This record gives sequence, structure tokens and C-alpha cells, in this order.
Amino acid sequence: MNEIYTIHTHSAEETKEVAKRLGALLEPNDLLTLEGDLGAGKTTFTKGLGVGLGVTRTISSPTFTIVKEYEGRMPLYHLDVYRLEDSDEDIGFDEYFEGEGVCVVEWAQFIEDYLPDDRLDLHLFYNEEDHRTIQLTPHGERYERLCKELVK
Ligand code: ADP
Ligand code: MG
Repeated sequence: MNEIYTIHTHSAEETKEVAKRLGALLEPNDLLTLEGDLGAGKTTFTKGLGVGLGVTRTISSPTFTIVKEYEGRMPLYHLDVYRLEDSDEDIGFDEYFEGEGVCVVEWAQFIEDYLPDDRLDLHLFYNEEDHRTIQLTPHGERYERLCKELVK
């Protein structure tokens, strides 16, 4: 059984700060999935992650493109595969998953067949106005260590 790690935040800034700390711990080839309802804080989280990765450009929601690439101390690939639902289409995911960058995937369930087993699944929950719960489920040793480091 995977241990699940939980972090509560009480402002967008706090969520960014957690994400920034995670971003600082990431290494080339790391894979994160990001799940949560509209307004849960996925984009806010990704912005913080970018800061931790040294991305200087503003990260925005990848609504109209499937992949957005940012330059940091390594590339950050922000994928939103929502439009690939039911399509079975492989848009060359390996280029991202096996590349030198960090991947953040929204709507990852739509590309389950292409998704590597080792990854960190993040789920954001809306509790109330400024309160969010960030749930981290690591798959594989690398991500177990990452979570332990993040919450300590
Ligand atoms: P999503 O990408 O999941 O749709 P966004 O990150 O775009 O969500 O929006 C989250 C909204 O909630 C932002 O307006 C943000 O300022 C606000 N917010 C309030 N509290 C928090 C919190 N604790 N964590 C993240 N966002 C928060
Ligand atoms: Mg968003």
C-alpha cells in the first residue's frame, strides 16, 4: 500500500510555497500528475512548482495547447491532455516522459496507457474559500523519498 501524504494550505501563497519547495527537490525525468476540480488550485500549484524549478516566465493554464514548455534549471513540460479523452492518441509522450525535464500532467487518467508507473500523483481538494488539501500519493521509491523530504 502506498502511504498518502497530506498537506493543508490556507492561502494561494501557501500552496505556491509548498509547490516551490517541491519544485526545488525535483530532478530531470520526474513525473507528477495533478488532479482536482476547477478552482482547486492546480494552476496555482504549478506556478509555485515553476518558481522552485527556476522558471522565470509566467506559467498559465494550458487550456488551448496540450503541452507547454518552460525553461528552468531544467525544462518543465506542463501537459493538459483533457482533449485526448477517448482518442487513444499518442502525441509522442515518450519525448516528455523520457526527456531531461520535469513533467506535470493534468487529466492524466486520459492517457493512462502511456503513463509511466513511477510517478507522484497529486490531488488538490477545495475545502473552503482559502483552505485546500493537497494529497500526495507516491508510486516508486524515488517519490516516496521526495514526499518524506517535503513533509519533514
Ligand atoms: P485550477 O487550476 O485547479 O482550476 P487555480 O489555481 O486556477 O485552480 O485557482 C485557484 C483559485 O483559488 C485562485 O484564485 C487562488 O487564488 C484561490 N485560492 C484560495 N486559497 C487557495 C489555496 N489555499 N491554494 C490554492 N489556491 C487558493
Ligand atoms: Mg488550471
